[in-house]
Amino acid sequence: MNDNTFEVTDLRQWAYCPRVVYYQYCLPDIRPMTKLMLAGMEEHRSEVGREERRSLRTYGLKQGERFFDVPLRSETLGLRGRVDLVIAIPDRQRATEVIVVEYKSTEGKAGPHVKLQLCAYALMIEETWRIPVKRGFIYHMPERKAEAITISASLRDRVRATIEAMRVTVDCERMPAPPASRAQCTVCEFRRFCNDVV
Ligand code: SF4
Repeated sequence: MNDNTFEVTDLRQWAYCPRVVYYQYCLPDIRPMTKLMLAGMEEHRSEVGREERRSLRTYGLKQGERFFDVPLRSETLGLRGRVDLVIAIPDRQRATEVIVVEYKSTEGKAGPHVKLQLCAYALMIEETWRIPVKRGFIYHMPERKAEAITISASLRDRVRATIEAMRVTVDCERMPAPPASRAQCTVCEFRRFCNDVV
């Protein structure tokens, strides 16, 4: 690792398949950039413009100050990343609560991997801004709906445990086992490196 921190998105990747994180850090030059990934990045950028025109009622709020694409870094957690949206209630100066929002291009309820990523941003905002984050939202772009997520104690514990597991894997350069279900292997950009599964 060039840096002593993981990207927040690595938590999501780890939940998808730990091997993806292993490849990323132990064999950093092999990652191909697929058309799907590039399209996803572009869709994310466009969503910021739409968010600026969207009402806070989307999140059940009457007031709040919005901050877009906020860079975050925590040496304590060993994480870095950019959260799509932070809402300070009622504003940054007087905030008693902060809400984190992530945009997702997928339909349906947020999976555990997405919640892990959102919670990591919540922990980083708490540390940096020193304001409690009790909840967040996943904004599903295709359905134009916000799904509320509680930043619970168990979710916070899972974030810390996942960071620790990633750290051990990368420090020991030990390739993790593949996921129990191989369904995702068929669409994975690393499949040509996993000769044991495909
Ligand atoms: S091909 Fe399967 S085992 Fe290999 S990195 Fe992708 S998801 Fe993981």
